[in-house]
Amino acid sequence: TSGLGALTGPRDHPALFAPRRQDTHKGSFGTVGILAGAPGMTGAALLAGRAALRGGAGKVLVGLAEREPALPCDPLQPELMLRSADSLLDHGEQLGVTAWIAGCGLGDSPHAEAWLTHLLRTMPAVPLVLDADALTLIARSAGLASQLAARGGARVLTPHPREASRLLGADTAAVQADRIAAACEIARRFRAWAVLKGAGSVVASPEGGWTINGSGNPGLATAGTGDVLAGLLGALLAQGLDAASAVRGGVWLHGAAADALAARGVGPIGMTAAEVIDAARALRNGG
Ligand code: AMP
Ligand code: MG
Repeated sequence: TSGLGALTGPRDHPALFAPRRQDTHKGSFGTVGILAGAPGMTGAALLAGRAALRGGAGKVLVGLAEREPALPCDPLQPELMLRSADSLLDHGEQLGVTAWIAGCGLGDSPHAEAWLTHLLRTMPAVPLVLDADALTLIARSAGLASQLAARGGARVLTPHPREASRLLGADTAAVQADRIAAACEIARRFRAWAVLKGAGSVVASPEGGWTINGSGNPGLATAGTGDVLAGLLGALLAQGLDAASAVRGGVWLHGAAADALAARGVGPIGMTAAEVIDAARALRNGG
């Protein structure tokens, strides 16, 4: 495999900064569908949703992993459309979803597995980001893994080292001992983009290339930042960026947002995931 080395600056990611045409409408910027948020983990779904919205998606639908969602809307982000997982999966096509995200706080119950199975069969040409519990479920089931590989659209896996160890059936120390090899092996095995997260995230392409992300700091070592990354990646894919630009660009943007916050004293200590979303938005708008 070959490496492009470290991607460090905004100039490496021009697609993030492409100006918007005047004659556009919300349909021009895609619809993100998010399968996430079992009871007790609703916040993970809402953070991914907020990141997708503020990452520039035209519309964001959040399918909560509950039969009857207890929350009718997010009062702090009422633009998000909250549904049950079943309703989102049944109507995704009609609702015009242009990128899927699954896993943030999804849980690993039999219900979660059934919803993920349904999702993998749904709209196979639409790009898909799998994070967190969706990765655990894929690691556990050869059937789910082969359904994933059979999809036509871009597929992106965003494991942290422990999730990567489950995907590879190796221990976490072995993953960390050769992060590049681990990311490339996940990409090869699952025929997907693999983002091995942590300081110096490794981005491996399904074709075998890899890059190391140069942005980010320990302020990101806090709850919810992984959900924010998934939301940003889904938003960029929904807006029609090609997979390489969306994945490499989104990972860079997430870290660069944290760097901008740290430079202003909002972290590294006590940085929060929601702050990273707003900082990422500001960077893309030249703020
Ligand atoms: P998760 O483990 O799923 O919550 O995701 C954490 C996110 O924060 C990933 O995007 C990591 O790459 C990032 N992150 C965590 N710790 C660090 C660190 N020390 N330096 C840079 N990025 C980090
Ligand atoms: Mg996570």
